[in-house]
Amino acid sequence: MLLSWLFPRGKACSWCGRPVHQGFFCTSCRQQLLDWQQHYHPCLYCGRLLPLGKQAVCNQCREELPPFQKARSVGPYQGLLKEMIWALKYQGRRSLATPLGHLLAGVVVRELGSGRPDLVIPVPLTSTRLRVRTFNQAELLALALGQELDLPVNGEVMFRVRETAPQVNLSRRSRWQNLGGAFKVTAPGKITGRHLLLVDDVLTTGATASACTRALQAAGAADVAVVTLATGIENLPCFSP
Ligand SMILES: [Zn+2]
Ligand SMILES: [Zn+2]
Repeated sequence: MLLSWLFPRGKACSWCGRPVHQGFFCTSCRQQLLDWQQHYHPCLYCGRLLPLGKQAVCNQCREELPPFQKARSVGPYQGLLKEMIWALKYQGRRSLATPLGHLLAGVVVRELGSGRPDLVIPVPLTSTRLRVRTFNQAELLALALGQELDLPVNGEVMFRVRETAPQVNLSRRSRWQNLGGAFKVTAPGKITGRHLLLVDDVLTTGATASACTRALQAAGAADVAVVTLATGIENLPCFSP
């Protein structure tokens, strides 16, 4: 009773259930989600996190730029964010899609705000994986993001033929073979000339986002930006956080 008087809207944190004044997460959860910003900043191109005050571009992008324009994430794949992604994907806590989509929308507005995308596309799962999991977490996130920013979402313009293996240890030649044909665009008419926003839960090596982007570019996309909940931290031998 007292709590409902103090917080008349009766809102609870989408993660821990503590009372919330506004938004989806309580102050404590929000602080945990934003804590990384004191230590890291995103690589200009791929969004991988780099120690603050060091270089602006990660080692992988120095070697070869990704095919997408820019990728950005809510934070690193660790701590509370990792727990939330785990709960959404593997514990079927679908109610997290809206609050997590809200975080993604924030990243899009802050980091990719140079122009509204024409279409939001979730990274598809293979049909086998979709049968096992019964839902595509990237699609749930894309729908929540699309709803918040009033953008069209289409999860059916592309399908996934097979998994993309991590790129890190592959030679340049086998990288291309690994990327080629993992995704197929089914409706190129919806892609041609469009500014696209690709949505996924995690960006690790960037192999999947790159493979998607190449398929969309082959179908005539004007450009592709990527937004994910989590990304990696570049492993620098001399750095300890
Ligand atoms: Zn909370
Ligand atoms: Zn990079």
